[in-house]
Amino acid sequence: MIYSREYETMAREDLEQLQVERLQITLNQVYRNVKFFKTLFDDKHIDISEVKSLEDLSRLPLTTKEDLKHSYPYEAFAVPLRDIVRIHSTSGTTGNPIVVGYTKNDLNIWSSLVGRVLSSVGIDNNHLVQIAFDYSQSTGGLGFHYGAEKLGASVIPASGEQILKQIKIMKDYRSSALISTPGYALHIASELEALGIDPHELNLSIGLFGAEPWSEKMRSEIESKLKIKAFDNYGLSEIIGPGVAYECECRCGMHVNEDHFIVEVINPDTLEVLPEGEEGELVFTTVTKQAFPLIRYRTGDISKIIPGSCDCSRTFRRIERVSGRIDDMLIIDGNNIFPSRIEELLFEIEGVEPHFQIILSREKGTTMIELKVEISPDFFSIDEIRRAEDFRKKITNHMSTRLGLRAKITLVEPKSIGRSSGGKVCRVVDLREDNI
Ligand SMILES: [Zn+2]
Repeated sequence: MIYSREYETMAREDLEQLQVERLQITLNQVYRNVKFFKTLFDDKHIDISEVKSLEDLSRLPLTTKEDLKHSYPYEAFAVPLRDIVRIHSTSGTTGNPIVVGYTKNDLNIWSSLVGRVLSSVGIDNNHLVQIAFDYSQSTGGLGFHYGAEKLGASVIPASGEQILKQIKIMKDYRSSALISTPGYALHIASELEALGIDPHELNLSIGLFGAEPWSEKMRSEIESKLKIKAFDNYGLSEIIGPGVAYECECRCGMHVNEDHFIVEVINPDTLEVLPEGEEGELVFTTVTKQAFPLIRYRTGDISKIIPGSCDCSRTFRRIERVSGRIDDMLIIDGNNIFPSRIEELLFEIEGVEPHFQIILSREKGTTMIELKVEISPDFFSIDEIRRAEDFRKKITNHMSTRLGLRAKITLVEPKSIGRSSGGKVCRVVDLREDNI
């Protein structure tokens, strides 16, 4: 279902006009109220009154996570604190987190945008929505919560519960939609299997997943193991949280809520804007946010804009599923390797579980790569060691011919690679001392 048809199916010309008008308002707002942007524009001799088209946007400077960290905690807010009604922050594993604020109007827009995401995947007021995202400082839990409530769905805020409790809730409360990370959905699937619960006993029909990169192969795993239809969506706290981009029933990319966010893709090295269809770093400009507007914010996420229109009648452009992060990129002896690409290739081989670990070490100046791969239970019987050896060679060749990656492959038992409580596998262990 299309939640706000007026905007989601707007003629491109009208939409672009709306974007320009909203952009000009936002530029005035940040120039007047945010010292960081005023200094940035003045230093670069930018006259914001000269921004008259979407093409002019590329003349404005880019902003980064580092810039925002310097504005900790409230320096980048464009309204006084008395107008702020909610404060979230990014996880901030190193140094200060990025603090994001919302006015009442921002929260209203946010829940409507999440409403679009949920409607698009078929969630409505008849659904029981189990949310397994964190409800604390990150935007996932509360973002989806208010969007689902706005639709009139019954929301089960199950975040923070242990996996067995999640499953009990799912079974007893008859949850029909699960919102979580894709990794957590697989974690639930394997626990169901261990408990001997047939997913048909559940009422689950829709899964909405995001917040970490995943592949088509992982989507099919989740769908076949949980007997649901799985959808992707995209968001980040700095821009608003969930609600930035979403899949429709066609599942051929994620529509960006372009009436609120202008999307660009840049070459992360040259910083030039790339044409549609070319992969690079996603950059967003918010055009309706009051409390925490951002101009040309570099997300660090790798994706591309998909050319052409979508069969669902939405006119918002689509971005491809995020394939990795600039900062996750591994540099192995001068080559750039994304763990997500290794994942994709592994999943092309039948018998591999969607869990693996890359261990990097250095011997005599050369990087040694070990790839630990979990094999599916029952794929090998105990006497099939020769078959296991052939299987190992198959993975070795696949990595070498498709990625040029010469790695030692180690087959390990299912569930033997350590998971966090959220079901996430530590993908990379870097034992190289200089860590480059
Ligand atoms: Zn569509």
